[in-house]
This record gives sequence, structure tokens and C-alpha cells, in this order.
Amino acid sequence: MRKIVIAIDGYSSCGKSTTAKAVAAELGYAYIDTGAMYRAVTLYLLERNIAFDDLPRIEQALHDIHIAFKRNRKTGRNELCLDGVIREDEIRQMRISNSVSEVSVIPAVRHTLVRQQQRMGRKRGVVMDGRDIGTTVFPDAEVKVFMTADVVTRAERRQQELAAKDEHVALEDIVENLRKRDHIDSTRAESPLRRAADAVLLDTTHMVIEEQVDFVLERVSASLFSLAALGNDQNGREAVV
Ligand code: C5P
Repeated sequence: MRKIVIAIDGYSSCGKSTTAKAVAAELGYAYIDTGAMYRAVTLYLLERNIAFDDLPRIEQALHDIHIAFKRNRKTGRNELCLDGVIREDEIRQMRISNSVSEVSVIPAVRHTLVRQQQRMGRKRGVVMDGRDIGTTVFPDAEVKVFMTADVVTRAERRQQELAAKDEHVALEDIVENLRKRDHIDSTRAESPLRRAADAVLLDTTHMVIEEQVDFVLERVSASLFSLAALGNDQNGREAVV
């Protein structure tokens, strides 16, 4: 069967990655968490004390850094590897969340990561989540979903995720972090967070994960159906000619 690209964009902590992961598992597609890649660059710069306005050192870092995803055989999850070492837990910490949007505005960072993401999805058959997938990375994605949700609901979900990893953060601090990131992500000059004209809106405030996954899978079925119909139509016409 033909393989497509599914782009899931939207605000922070709307359930994008949980939904995208489940959709990928259902379809047997690869899942790529592009936010993890921006988080990995942030971790790398912080660990080396590279200032976010030190462009020559950032460009050198982008040249040296090696980001990949490795499948954890025990959990079945794709985990982020920075220079060959799994750093999945560290990149999710609040200290990274507090700085990542400042790093993701840097054009050199975006250019490098967008190119890498395009390479990762060149054979299609991927579900990619982020902020600019449907607008910049894969503007030709067959299915585009733009996710949103009420900010307090998002913060509560994020708080539970952090608590499960023994990081206990006040709800107000998470709300503030989400608002700040949403603002920086939506107003930056280079590929800002915005809904692509052909993306379907999904508000997850009152939804459970299964409903979100079903919503995306229905779009996928509709897209595959119309692509197949188009293919038949074209084959038919070619046969007549
Ligand atoms: O998805 P997640 O919340 O992990 O993303 C972390 C940050 O990475 C976002 O707040 C945003 O600044 C940046 N990002 C981005 N473009 C993407 C994915 C993430 O700018 N495609």
C-alpha cells in the first residue's frame, strides 16, 4: 500500500506525541518527535556553556552534534540519542523546557534540523510531530493535523508526566512555561508555529487519547482512499489513451 506523511503540529503538551506514536504503531510507520531534536541541541549547548547568541560556536556545534533515534527493545519506544548516548530523560526536564524555545528561534539550528527531518521522512511512511511539519518540513504531507487544547488542561497533563519521572513542578510554573513557549514559537521569524491552510484542527481539551488517535486514523483512511481513487482514475485514463 502507498505510504504517506502524517504531520501533527500544534501547541506544547496537547498530546501530539502520544497521538503520533499510537498512529505510527497502528500503521507500522516510523514516528519522529522533532521537538526531541530541538531539546537535544539545547542540552548540548547548555552542557558546553555555549551562549545562545554565540553563532560561530553554535554553527560548530551543529556540525559536530549527532542526533538519532534508537529503539529501546525493552519498552519498544524510540529514544533520543545524542552523540550515541540515550538522553531521553534529560531532554524532558524543566531546565530544557525553559530554554528550548530560545534555541529553536536560531535560523542555523532550524535549517540543520529541518534538513535532517526531511531526510528522515524522504521514503514517506512517517508520522512526524512538531510545530512546522505541515508548513515547512513537509508542506506536501498528505495528512495534516493541528492540535490545540486549553492551557490549564495541557499543564495538568504535563505535570502528571513530570511527576511520573519524580520531577514535581507547581502547576503555575508549567502554565507559565507553556504560555512563554507558545508565544516564542508563534512569533519567531523563521517557520513560526501556525496552522497550515490545509491542516485540520483538533482541540483535545475534552478528548481522551483513543479519540485523538481515531480522529487521525480516519483522516489517514480518507487520504489513502482518495489517493487510491485518483490512481485508479489516472490508470483508467491512461488505458483509454
Ligand atoms: O514538542 P516539544 O514540546 O518537545 O518541543 C519543544 C520545543 O521545540 C518547542 O517549544 C519549540 O520551541 C521547538 N520545536 C520547534 N519546531 C518543531 C518542534 C519543536 O521549534 N518542529
